[in-house]
Amino acid sequence: MTALKTIPERCAACYICELACSFHHEGVFGRRLSSVEIRKDAPTGKVAIAIHEAGAGLRRACDACEGEPKPLCIIWCPVSAIVGRGARP
Ligand code: SF4
Ligand code: SF4
Repeated sequence: MTALKTIPERCAACYICELACSFHHEGVFGRRLSSVEIRKDAPTGKVAIAIHEAGAGLRRACDACEGEPKPLCIIWCPVSAIVGRGARP
C-alpha cells in the first residue's frame, strides 16, 4: 500500500505523472507502463486518478517510488493533485 492521496478535482489531465512513473519503473516515458492512470471523460471533462497497486500487462504496480527521494508523481504534478509522503504543504 502507498500513502498517496489523489485530489482529482485539481487534475488537469496533463499526464506528466504517468510519464514520471514510467520513468521510475523503466527509465523510459510510456504511459501504459505507469502505475498512475489518468482517465478523462471527454463529454463531461471529469477526471479520475487511479493508483494501481497491482501490475497488469505492461502496467507496473506502484512501489511508492522505492529508491527515489520522493514519489515522482508527487514531485512532478504541477497542481498537487497527488499528495502524500514527501508532498509539498
Ligand atoms: S509513487 Fe512512484 S510508483 Fe507509485 S504511482 Fe507515484 S510515481 Fe508511480
Ligand atoms: S501530473 Fe497532476 S495534473 Fe497532470 S495528470 Fe497527473 S495528477 Fe493530473
